[in-house]
Amino acid sequence: MASVTTTRSVALLGSTGSIGTQALDVIARNRERFTVAALSAGGNVGLLAEQAATFRPALVAAATGDPDAIRAAIAARVSAAGDRAAYRPEVITGADAATRVAASGADVVLNGITGSIGLRPTLAALESGSTLALANKESLIIGGPLVKAAAAPGQLVPVDSEHSAIAQSLRGGRHAEVRRLVVTASGGPFRGRSRDELREVSPEQALAHPNYAMGRVITTNSATLVNKGLEVIEAHLLFDIPFERIDVVVHPQQWIHSMVEFHDGSTIAQMGPPRMLVPIALGLSWPERLADIDEPCDWTRAQTWDFHPLDDEAFPAVRLARQVGTAGGTYPAVYNAANEVCVDAFHDGTIGFLDIVDTVARVVEAHDGSPVESVEHVLAADAWARAHATALIQLD
Ligand code: NDP
Repeated sequence: MASVTTTRSVALLGSTGSIGTQALDVIARNRERFTVAALSAGGNVGLLAEQAATFRPALVAAATGDPDAIRAAIAARVSAAGDRAAYRPEVITGADAATRVAASGADVVLNGITGSIGLRPTLAALESGSTLALANKESLIIGGPLVKAAAAPGQLVPVDSEHSAIAQSLRGGRHAEVRRLVVTASGGPFRGRSRDELREVSPEQALAHPNYAMGRVITTNSATLVNKGLEVIEAHLLFDIPFERIDVVVHPQQWIHSMVEFHDGSTIAQMGPPRMLVPIALGLSWPERLADIDEPCDWTRAQTWDFHPLDDEAFPAVRLARQVGTAGGTYPAVYNAANEVCVDAFHDGTIGFLDIVDTVARVVEAHDGSPVESVEHVLAADAWARAHATALIQLD
């Protein structure tokens, strides 16, 4: 593993998203520590070209779009900046572009793509020997055994703030001394509401996250608590702790990002502002810390932090995630894929808020799971779940 005191090359997948743009902010402030080897986005070619003109990676990739048009967009931005230096990156496009970027051999691959399409890039990064800074939790959750088998010890560094917090807290003791993991949850914009009060909530209300500005899927998942369900499965896979020893506690301020309770009764918590900069920076620089990434806690100001138990009746997504995580095999992939379909349907106005998790539960119930054998196998389960969720939505 390259030391962060030397320069690390970074391949950034999902560079135009919330995680991607914040990662570039961290890199821009630490140019002596990182070079951007490759950028990969979906279809936001304008922002991708701007990022390429600024960071000058050798490889630029988009899932959609015409390579010549992307080259022209980059050249236009380079010349608008008055820069005459030759910069002609390799530009690739297509459904497998992100996977090719992930396999390009950078020191660190940061996977900030949303959804199960992140699985092949995750595996490609691990197989190429790169350190994988993983924001795309979905790839680990759906491809659990495949991802774990591909990852060498220390090769996979979590970027999700809760899992970064747990990884940091675990430095405080040995694995055998861990009694439980405590994952904190904001509770989302609907914290404190009963199931009945959730029936008519709108997509706009669901996107009003109290603390974080994130992409649409994860923000909606924070409102339904599906995100917390995914994170419980992610914690189990990352840290090898059984589900019954992973708790969720609602902590609206989100200054405590998560905690580890050790068997002597001591609990170590990691805290910091409810922002992603520190977890992203640690993902890039692990195990070292970069200086001045975010503001520390201000203890000169009076403040109160609250903690509440999770209401499993109003928000059954975590309970369902524990069931699918415990069942293992293709069940987590089905939970995730059905949810991705339902999130789209909710934003299209086709289904209501409560229908999201209710439909996911029906898809899980109808699934005949099996152990994960290959990428094709798990993606077939993913496709089955999407089709089944779509059929249920159309029938209702
Ligand atoms: P966004 O929706 O903001 O960004 C998603 C990124 O993925 C965009 O750059 C998008 O490109 C890109 N993308 C979409 N399709 C493809 C594709 N086929 N190939 C390559 N890139 C593609 O999501 P977030 O940044 O919020 O989340 C990213 C991941 O990080 C998710 O797994 C999320 O759960 C996780 N995460 C996010 C947090 C946050 O604070 N945002 C916190 C913790 C975890 P384009 O815009 O060009 O279409």
